[in-house]
Amino acid sequence: METFVVAVDLGGTQVRSAAITAGGQISARTVIPTPVQEGPQAVIAAVIEAAGKVIDQGQASRPAAIGLGAPGPVDPQTGTIFFPPNLPGWGERSIMDPVRQAFQCPVFVGNDANVAALGEQRFGAGGGVAHLVYVTVSTGIGGGIVSDGRLLTGRRGFAAEIGHQTLVPDGPLCGCGQPGHLEALAAGPAIARMAREGIADGGSSSLTDLGKDLDQLTAADVAQAAASGDELSIQVYRRAGFYIGLGLTNLIHILEPELILIGGGVTRAGALLFDPIRQTVDERVMSDIFRVIKILPAALGEDVGLFGAAALALVGVEQG
Ligand SMILES: [Zn+2]
Repeated sequence: METFVVAVDLGGTQVRSAAITAGGQISARTVIPTPVQEGPQAVIAAVIEAAGKVIDQGQASRPAAIGLGAPGPVDPQTGTIFFPPNLPGWGERSIMDPVRQAFQCPVFVGNDANVAALGEQRFGAGGGVAHLVYVTVSTGIGGGIVSDGRLLTGRRGFAAEIGHQTLVPDGPLCGCGQPGHLEALAAGPAIARMAREGIADGGSSSLTDLGKDLDQLTAADVAQAAASGDELSIQVYRRAGFYIGLGLTNLIHILEPELILIGGGVTRAGALLFDPIRQTVDERVMSDIFRVIKILPAALGEDVGLFGAAALALVGVEQG
């Protein structure tokens, strides 16, 4: 029987789990709500329940390992998750020990955006390349870095904070409290904010015809208006793409990846976002050497967290 692992994607609203083979086939999957209000012990119990369900459903044999993607910084050695923003009351607590005790098999834990890079590398648009950067652009900007085939985690799991590079020293405040970070300039809320500001500055836009309170505008609204030719919305996406391109240029110079993959809800805007990203990188890199680096959409969509957790477990098993 082909090796299989159990993947768990622990999110603030759902715990998703799947049994996934080494070849990337999902043989069983389940979703249960995350009992955030009931505290950390209930969340840990939900993770164990979700993993147990897919083992019972799909496979007669035991998984080779369990891989778990979690929000917040994760120490890969101890499985400690540090103050995850959407699991209130968690503090600093290991998820590795209780899960290992429950299933008596190896357990590997990583930050969800970090492990997504491994998932795309192995099962998605990465094609197995050894040097890859994955960026997700949604309500925030995060990502992961695979360097020489390994996930770059830093000393305690805090590395690869791609969204928190300073691009504008006195720019808008980021959710982390610092000014001018990429996330504050180009994530979904920043796109909505730039559109609102453009309208407040007297710009004309079809967004005002939506009959929607401008405070409720979303990046998807702006993308839709841009697709219908709204010039203000097109300029907003150009601006967001410009900042993402600047951020990628920094990463390219530091890491020299072979491939950069960009996922997350905001990338549904397609060429509207990717064109200014590629143009900015092309204009800003220091040498032709870096102009060959491909920038492509990620492929795994909503399942990227599950495939990432699976890839983390498979890499862990392979490296013994
Ligand atoms: Zn920040």
